[in-house]
Amino acid sequence: MKKERNKKFRLLIPLIIASVLFLSLTALAQTGKIQEATELSPNLIVTVTPAEARVDIYEYDQRGIFKREFVDNGSLPLNLPEGKYRIVILRGYEYQPYQEEVEIKEEEIKKINVNLKHLYNMNKLGWYSGDAHMHTIYSDGKQKFPILVQAAKAEGLNWIITTEHNEGVFKSWEHLHKHNYNTPLFQVYFGEEVTTFHSGHFNALGIEGYVDYRLPLEEIIAQTHEYKGLIVANHPFSGPLLGDLSSYFWQVENGYAKFQPDLDGVEVWNGDWNWENEETLKYYFHLLNQGYKFFALANTDTHNVYSNPPGTPRTYVYLGEKKLSKEEVKTALKLAKIFLTSGPLLQFDINGKTPGETLKVKLKENITFNIKIKSVYSLSSLFIIKNGFVFYYNGKLTGKGHMETVSFPADKNSWYLLRVLGENGTQAITNPIWIKVD
Ligand SMILES: [Zn+2]
Ligand SMILES: [Zn+2]
Repeated sequence: MKKERNKKFRLLIPLIIASVLFLSLTALAQTGKIQEATELSPNLIVTVTPAEARVDIYEYDQRGIFKREFVDNGSLPLNLPEGKYRIVILRGYEYQPYQEEVEIKEEEIKKINVNLKHLYNMNKLGWYSGDAHMHTIYSDGKQKFPILVQAAKAEGLNWIITTEHNEGVFKSWEHLHKHNYNTPLFQVYFGEEVTTFHSGHFNALGIEGYVDYRLPLEEIIAQTHEYKGLIVANHPFSGPLLGDLSSYFWQVENGYAKFQPDLDGVEVWNGDWNWENEETLKYYFHLLNQGYKFFALANTDTHNVYSNPPGTPRTYVYLGEKKLSKEEVKTALKLAKIFLTSGPLLQFDINGKTPGETLKVKLKENITFNIKIKSVYSLSSLFIIKNGFVFYYNGKLTGKGHMETVSFPADKNSWYLLRVLGENGTQAITNPIWIKVD
């Protein structure tokens, strides 16, 4: 009897424990659910066309962004604390930014419905925008790969080249082979930021493999060439550990720059414009004056898409009638068919020759500079740079568009480029057009 009761009791105990556990877990799950539902219940829904865009949310009367999100399917449900906000919706530099003020109140759902205006269609003119330097969690970046892609699309970019440091490329390589992000107007290519202590940082762009940073420099270069990669000197003036003094591809001594023959291009613009970029640009001019022809890039080097979205600044390449592809982008880069921008969109030619091209003329023959600028931000000034010096200046630009034609007689072999400044520190710079005088 005792035994029997004990047995029953022994059976009962786990049953009681199990029931208590089950009941408390259910209760927990329900509370969890309720809380989750409250957390997710939106009080602001942003609907946007095209389906990918960036949404910046500012608190009323506050500086700085309160929250930033990237929309990738046309709709963004948000839950904001009560209060007044300014919602700014953007998609790169070709679409009219949209803003609206909203007041969020308890138990009310506000809606914003936007059709972003495509003011300037650069693809129609043969120009495709991209960013050739960025990181994810596969090296020292903050976000996962799909978030980087979502942000790049929201910025209206056409191509990106992912460039993890060293071994990080293995994971990104694997990821890119598993997921095909490419469509006719948005493509992801593969690169590597070869990160060395002895020779600085350089990007191997558009490669098909892994460049081993531990090898001696000659072998690193040989490997990059074997994979048909373009060699770009990164952020050359960002300090000894990040490439400056130790940079093999960007050696400046006593104010004199020395060109390394394996160099294809230089990142004259890394992230927000600063004195380091200005310094790189100056030495880029020095090297062009020595007769070297190589391209200049604008990249974000983003490690966090929320604080530094891809494509701010960006590099436009000219493909003309050709379809967007890795090979075409690489060819356009190599030929310096490029302009760089954080806002203004440039069309610049000399007697019909565009950036990267060479115009042959007779001595004293008239050369005509055709300038067409469009921007979603106000413009302020333009400079034509000839062999590193300001050759022509117009500081009276106003509004968001400008057209100008100026002519001068050709005097000697030269290179020219166009630099444009606008409001809020926005600017744009073309790669050079070369003039050969007979
Ligand atoms: Zn770097
Ligand atoms: Zn980097």
